[in-house]
Amino acid sequence: MGATFDTIVIGLGGVGSAAVYALASQNVRTLGIDQFTPPHSRGSSHGETRIIRKAYFEHPSYVPLLLRSYELWSQLELLTEQKLFHRTGLLEIGPSDGIVVPGVLLSAATHGLEVETMSMSEAQRRFPGIDGDPTWSVLLEHDAGYLKVEECVSTYLQQARMLGAELKVDEVVVDWQSRGEAVVVRTNKDEYHARSLVIAAGPWASQALARYRLPLRIVRKHQYWFRGRTPWYRQNHGFPCYFYETPQGYFYGFPELDGSGMKVARHSGGDVVQPPIDGQHPVDDNDRMLVESFLERHLPQMDPDCLQSKGCYYTMTPDENFIVDRLPDAPNVTVVAGLSGHGFKFTSVLGEIAACLSTGRNSPCPIDFLSLHRFEGTQ
Ligand SMILES: Cc1cc2nc3c(=O)[nH]c(=O)nc-3n(C[C@H](O)[C@H](O)[C@H](O)COP(=O)(O)OP(=O)(O)OC[C@H]3O[C@@H](n4cnc5c(N)ncnc54)[C@H](O)[C@@H]3O)c2cc1C
Repeated sequence: MGATFDTIVIGLGGVGSAAVYALASQNVRTLGIDQFTPPHSRGSSHGETRIIRKAYFEHPSYVPLLLRSYELWSQLELLTEQKLFHRTGLLEIGPSDGIVVPGVLLSAATHGLEVETMSMSEAQRRFPGIDGDPTWSVLLEHDAGYLKVEECVSTYLQQARMLGAELKVDEVVVDWQSRGEAVVVRTNKDEYHARSLVIAAGPWASQALARYRLPLRIVRKHQYWFRGRTPWYRQNHGFPCYFYETPQGYFYGFPELDGSGMKVARHSGGDVVQPPIDGQHPVDDNDRMLVESFLERHLPQMDPDCLQSKGCYYTMTPDENFIVDRLPDAPNVTVVAGLSGHGFKFTSVLGEIAACLSTGRNSPCPIDFLSLHRFEGTQ
């Protein structure tokens, strides 16, 4: 029989790395297991950068989680003297009666968040090199920017290890069972026992939770890097992150960084892939053409020759809200899944919430809207 812990975490990506850190910092005897060596590029937490923002167009209910998430990122930066969050600001651009602009304004009004509103022509004066329909609205959220995704994961793992968490990498969980007040986790190498379990398996969640038949859809996405023909788009030139709602879909990107260039991607669309997922990302010419024509229309001084591309997975729920809950028939098993392509900015707080739920405490933030109950009767 293998070793015994208080809590085992399956998956050490975005959520799992934050969860093992939160558990270890509360003196919980923690074991984290990952099938690869995170940060790796086969799941959902890679590709240099992730946008972080507070005035959440998706739903105002996310804002309390974001407020806590900002605090936790800042604590991690202070503790490790590392810059993980780059506050470049974020431009959100689209029709005033669309989804994004009204959504941002609703969250900002509900939670008293500061967002600057301007016309397209004023935005073009302040940020030369952007373009869009002259009737669109432009919002600038100053307290937004990007997180260095791989660094966030590796920093949490490093800190968790320093606090005594045991981390097993290149070890695959093949089965787990909850037996009353105990859990047993079997891997391809050993068997482990604990009082509670956190499952943070990202795009492998439907496999890790196969018997629960969660309504998850895995979508293959692509991220592309380009170079500007002028210095206007560079971070050191004051260019922010951006998110556009266009008739062709949602597109977003980052300022051009020294070395790598500007990362741009299409948030909408993507091919649905069937589990088991394999981390393979064949080139998607149609997606790339859509991104290139977005650049031609809206950031016309970018050179449309792509420097490199990387694939990644979104794990979508039917309503595109996360799943954060204890399993109804096994309350010592906590699931964080279905982050639906917008979860990285939350991983700090989701790790903390998972640590609370798995040690018998309440969530520090309201998460009822993320419960499993909402899918009852829909599968
Ligand atoms: C292209 C792209 C752009 C994105 N942009 C943004 C953005 O700008 N802002 C934002 O907030 N979010 C963004 N997201 C979403 C965000 O990155 C994800 O929601 C988040 O990273 C998911 O983290 P996770 O921990 O759920 O999954 P992962 O980080 O993939 O972690 C899951 C881990 O579980 C491990 N695992 C799974 N099964 C097993 C098993 N059986 N045994 C052992 N280990 C196992 C895997 O190896 C993996 O390491 C983006 C996602 C993509 C793909």
